[in-house]
Amino acid sequence: MRKLLVSWLVAVLACGIVAAQGMKEGRLTVIRAGSVIDGVSESAKKNQLIFVRGNKIEKIADANTPIPAGAAIVDLSNTTVLPGLIDSHTHIFLWGEDPAKGGYDENILKAGIALRAARATYACKRTLEQGFTTIRDLETEGAGYGDVEMKEAIEEGTIPGPRIFASTRGISSTGGYNLEGYAPELAMPKGVQIVDGPVEARKAAREQLDHGADWLKVYMTHRSWVGKKGELVSQPTLTVEELRAIVDEAHGWGKKVACHAYSGIGLQRALDGGCDSIEHGLALTDAQIAQMIRQGTWYCPTIAPYYGDWAPENTPGGQRDRKRASDHEVSVQKAAKAGVKTVFGTDMGGIPWTEPMAAEFEYMTKFGFTPMGAIQAATSRAAEMLEMQGEIGVIAPGAFADMIAVSGDPLRDISELKKVKFVMHDGKVFKNEVAPK
Ligand SMILES: [Zn+2]
Repeated sequence: MRKLLVSWLVAVLACGIVAAQGMKEGRLTVIRAGSVIDGVSESAKKNQLIFVRGNKIEKIADANTPIPAGAAIVDLSNTTVLPGLIDSHTHIFLWGEDPAKGGYDENILKAGIALRAARATYACKRTLEQGFTTIRDLETEGAGYGDVEMKEAIEEGTIPGPRIFASTRGISSTGGYNLEGYAPELAMPKGVQIVDGPVEARKAAREQLDHGADWLKVYMTHRSWVGKKGELVSQPTLTVEELRAIVDEAHGWGKKVACHAYSGIGLQRALDGGCDSIEHGLALTDAQIAQMIRQGTWYCPTIAPYYGDWAPENTPGGQRDRKRASDHEVSVQKAAKAGVKTVFGTDMGGIPWTEPMAAEFEYMTKFGFTPMGAIQAATSRAAEMLEMQGEIGVIAPGAFADMIAVSGDPLRDISELKKVKFVMHDGKVFKNEVAPK
C-alpha cells in the first residue's frame, strides 16, 4: 500500500514538473494592440494585450492586465492587429507570364530549375513581407515537386516564407494544358502531369500524394472563348470518372482536391466529381451555386487576374477577356449573396510577384463582400478549408502566433491591407516598420 502511495506521489510530482516546464516553454512576448480583428468575431476589439509564448498565442486580455516582469513588449498600440493572412491560390513557381518576356512558355523552356527555385524563394519572401503567413500553392507549373522542397527549406529555417500547403505537379488531360501550339511532331514539356483514363488519373494522384502533396490540383477546363450566343465557352478536360478516381484517392489519404474550372461542362463535371474547391468559377449558374452549398464546396474566385492585361477589344481574345470579367463579377456577387463558402485567393505568379497581393481584397469588397467578410475569407474561412481551424487565421489562445498589423482601419479602408507594417510568423517578428508611439 505504502509502495503504491509513493509511486502515486512520484507520478503526481513528475506530472507537475512536466506541466511547469510546458508553461515555461519559450519566452513571453506581449503585444499591445490598439485594435484587434481576430479573424472570427464580427467586430474589432480596442486596446488588447496579446500574450505570445514561443510560437503560440497564450491569451488575449484587456490593456490594463498586468504584464509579467521580463516579458518582451511589442508596442502596436497605434495599429490594427489581424491574424496572418492566408492566400488560398498562389503559384510560387510562376513568374508573371508577361508576354513581352516570352510569357508562360519562357518559364518552362528557358529557366532552369535553379533559377526557378531562386525566383520561388523571392516569391516566398514576398508573401511573408506582405503579411501572408500561409499559402495554398496550387501547382508548380512544370517545376515538379519543387513546392514540397521549398516548404522543407522554410520549415528547416533556411529561407523565410509562409506555411505552405503544396499541391505539386497539377493534373490535366491530353489537350488540356500548355505548352501547346508547337509542331505536332515535337514532344513538348507540359506544365502539369497529363492523364487519360481513370487508371492513369488514380496513378498520378498516388504519385503526387506519395511525394508530399497536401492538396491535389486538377484542371477541369482549359481554353475558353465566346460562343455563338455570346456565352463563355470553356473546353472541358477530365471526365467525371477520371476526376472521381482522383478525388477518391485523395480523400482516402485524408487530402483534398482543388479544381480549376471556368464554366459549363467542365465546371459541372468538377462538382459532380466531388471536388473540394472550385478555383476561379467564372460563370456559375444558380443550379451550380445551389449544388456547391449542398455539397459544401469551397469557392476561391481569384478575381484580380481577370481585370488586367485584356487583349484589344475587337479581337476574339479581347472579347473573351471582357466576357470572363463581366461573368465573373456576377458569379462572385451571386455566390456571396447565397452564402457559398468562399476563400481569398490571388493567383499570384500568374500576376507578377512584385504586385500587391492585397489588391484582391478591393475586388472582393467591390463585388459583394463586406470588409470583414473579405478578411475572414483570408483568415478563419481559409483555415477551415485547410482543416487548421483554431490554429491559423485567428487570434485566439492556442493558435499559432501568426499576426500582422496595419496603421489604419481596414474595415474603413480595405486598401490598408496593401500596407502591412508588422509581421509575426510562428512567434518570430519577421518585419516591424511600426513607428514607436
Ligand atoms: Zn492558378
